[in-house]
Amino acid sequence: MTTELYLLAVLLALLLGLAAGKAWERYKLRDGRWVDRRRLRETPHYMLGLNFLVDNQVDQAIEELGQATSLDTDALEVRMILGNLYRQKGQVGRAVNVHQALLQRPDLTELEQAYVLLCLGLDFRHGGFVDRALEAFQEVLRLDPRNRYALVNLQKLYEDQHQWAEALRVREQVAKIDGGRHPDNQQILGFLRNEIGHEQQRADDPAAVRTFQAAIDTDAHTVPAHLNLGDLREGRGDLAGAVEAWERLVAAVPEQAHFAFDRLERAYRTMGAPHRFVELCHRLIDRELQGWRPRLALSRHLAAAGQHRAAFDQLLDALPHHPHALAIHQQIWEALEALAFDPALIRRYVELTREAVFYLDPHICRRCRYRSTEPLWHCPQCHEWNTFVEERLAPAKDTAAAETMEAP
Ligand SMILES: [Zn+2]
Repeated sequence: MTTELYLLAVLLALLLGLAAGKAWERYKLRDGRWVDRRRLRETPHYMLGLNFLVDNQVDQAIEELGQATSLDTDALEVRMILGNLYRQKGQVGRAVNVHQALLQRPDLTELEQAYVLLCLGLDFRHGGFVDRALEAFQEVLRLDPRNRYALVNLQKLYEDQHQWAEALRVREQVAKIDGGRHPDNQQILGFLRNEIGHEQQRADDPAAVRTFQAAIDTDAHTVPAHLNLGDLREGRGDLAGAVEAWERLVAAVPEQAHFAFDRLERAYRTMGAPHRFVELCHRLIDRELQGWRPRLALSRHLAAAGQHRAAFDQLLDALPHHPHALAIHQQIWEALEALAFDPALIRRYVELTREAVFYLDPHICRRCRYRSTEPLWHCPQCHEWNTFVEERLAPAKDTAAAETMEAP
């Protein structure tokens, strides 16, 4: 009987504890006042706003979250998000106002302060106020030294200013925090070291050799570091050393070997060994690396040597790998001209292109990047209406968006 009573008491205490915990979760002491955090959830605006946010419908999210904050003026995180949405819409002034007003609150914890400052830094960066952005991110790091977003944004700011050494120093801190979990770090560190080396190279600083070497040691996939190291050696009359650097690129990153093709072809010719270029292309072709690029390079090499028929065969082999590459077609037209427009060869070429999957009139969904040969009114992949635009070749968009918390 006593044990039963005891158990009941324990259970009751447990229930009371749970209830107290729930209440604690719901209420938060601010400015000595109790604020009911459930109030936000009692209006549809908060929920609707979050859903629009997830769905990337920024205007509707702003509308609904704005309504929600007018009901609960204390909701820090909702205001923070609202400010970020203004920034995403390009309304930097409004974003700055919202975030600066939040900073004025006397009751912010250090963590909250750090996050509002981070948002403010992003606003400034977005608006092009470099110094104020730098200041904000450095302030975040003073409050929260391991804040990865602040570090990454600081790195990007330094990169924008071509302050490569500072960017490298910051990225090393990021790599330390990540502790090997982020495979991109080595690649980024390699590219930053390459930029430092490139500046040294332009300033005729002999340290450039060591810096390029360090970039390659950091990440052997740093293609421009191999190229620059070779160029540097070539400039000093060390052609064999240059070839060694470029051949190391081919060995380390065979799928990007074509970046060294022109240099190697020229160097082999200067060294009186043009056959080495032919052998290199054949090696890459045999391993099916890159498909069309070594074939195109080989055909150019053969055409330069007057072997137009062999060049033409290489081109027809290259074409199925990448039928959209205008460079192959142009080379074929030149080869056909050199071969007096032999009707049999033209027929082979036409046959081949007929079977290739061409996007005669390429279109792309603005929302999900689904590709189609014709414009569609309804995207079969993301099911949006009227999202197709003509696809044109254009420089790639910044892909670092996710890392810097910036809107794409
Ligand atoms: Zn789509």
